[in-house]
Amino acid sequence: MAYDDNNVFAKILRGEIPSKKIYEDQYALAFHDIAPARPIHVLVIPKGKYEAFTDFAAKASAAEIAGFYQAVAKAAQIAGVTEAGYRLIANTGVNGGQEVPHFHVHILGGGAVGPMVARK
Ligand code: AMP
Repeated sequence: MAYDDNNVFAKILRGEIPSKKIYEDQYALAFHDIAPARPIHVLVIPKGKYEAFTDFAAKASAAEIAGFYQAVAKAAQIAGVTEAGYRLIANTGVNGGQEVPHFHVHILGGGAVGPMVARK
């Protein structure tokens, strides 16, 4: 599937819609989720056009991948969740519940995040 240039995170990267940015470097942008699911809920997105984790892992350069995950750690530090702990989530594709087709990692924290997923 081709990357959709009109997805909401592509628009945020282009500055066409605002975001509450907490960190940015050449590889990634981190900003607060518009509908926080926990007291701290930050999203980290790569600057490259990757629609999901699978695509990012297959096509991004080693420098982009390393830079991205280092940015995730920096964003967690800036958000103040590193010491107490937090959860990273990368919803991927239809069964993963991914809504925005630009690869992103959720950082959730600011209190116990709770069970990993609801058991069926
Ligand atoms: P996912 O289900 O993993 O694709 O998560 C997409 C996330 O993007 C959701 O948690 C939304 O609340 C969040 N979101 C959607 N639009 C925006 C926006 N304009 N700014 C910040 N977060 C957004």
